[in-house]
Amino acid sequence: GHRTGFSASYKSKKQGPVAVFLAEYDALNGLGHGCGHNIFGCVSSLAAACLKQVTDEVGGEVRVYGTPGEEGGENGSAKGSFVREGFFKDVDFALCEHPGKDSFNSLTSSSLACAPLDIEFWGRSAHAASAPEKGINALDALIMVYNAANALRQHLPSDVKIHGIIVDGGKAPNMVPDYAHAKFYIRAASMPVMMDTYKKLEKIVEGAALQTGAKGRMQPYQNIVENTIVTPLFDEVFKESLEEMGEKIGGAPVSIGSSDVGNVSQVVPTIQPNLSITRESIPNHSELMVKAACSEYGLETIRLGAKTLALTALKLMMDPERLQAIKAQHAEKLKDQA
Ligand SMILES: [Zn+2]
Ligand SMILES: [Zn+2]
Repeated sequence: GHRTGFSASYKSKKQGPVAVFLAEYDALNGLGHGCGHNIFGCVSSLAAACLKQVTDEVGGEVRVYGTPGEEGGENGSAKGSFVREGFFKDVDFALCEHPGKDSFNSLTSSSLACAPLDIEFWGRSAHAASAPEKGINALDALIMVYNAANALRQHLPSDVKIHGIIVDGGKAPNMVPDYAHAKFYIRAASMPVMMDTYKKLEKIVEGAALQTGAKGRMQPYQNIVENTIVTPLFDEVFKESLEEMGEKIGGAPVSIGSSDVGNVSQVVPTIQPNLSITRESIPNHSELMVKAACSEYGLETIRLGAKTLALTALKLMMDPERLQAIKAQHAEKLKDQA
């Protein structure tokens, strides 16, 4: 479960599609709203409230899923849990809008699958000088993994990224470390490639355990994030709606690393376009982004974002053929990645 997750819905008596607005609202540890999720959550909730006004007329159901922890942290990436728990089984499409760090608006970007991993070793402590032969060095095992991951990197497809840090390497130099702990990410453009690398790293952990006699374990510390499937026909509806609001898409999709919106996009057509909250492009996850996220200019995008998202959803609620075409394209794109 996710302490701060929620699901809200309004269902009309008339048959129709189920639309889900994804609301994100987590901040960054030590920084604050450096990703603009204060705006994100408001946009989705307000868009759903707008659409609800006409749901009885057009039919169908409107939902908001509050999916916290996109940035990780306690039990992070809730969208993965919502998918796993079946919250999208009867859903026709999902949408949200991310506050943009660039001076222009852009459509949904693909993103990388990502496995956030704990790698741990348990050895045996001993006096490092008087009885080293009694010790089993957990740090040595972990360093073997670190080096082997470096060697593996040369032989991986170019989209794969492995990065890690050691968070616990022992307590004192005169004690053989009986415990060592690293955090690693494996990322790749698709789940199959990511999982392939995952298995290789698992073998490396086993190998290091064998070599040192330590006990090793590798496991995800939160939901595995899947790559995002982009459905251009769906983005097209957003673009059209944005233009009807007097705004436009100003540039190519901006790479976002990894996002748990990917997990949702693996089961239903999903969009996550960006609406700029800054007049000049700035780095995401920065102090500048915190400022932009509470600037007048930034906050004004709540109105624009909510209206545009609501209109996008409304168009699909009222046009079964268009929704069908989007679903067909989504199915194609799903097949393509395998
Ligand atoms: Zn972020
Ligand atoms: Zn974000």
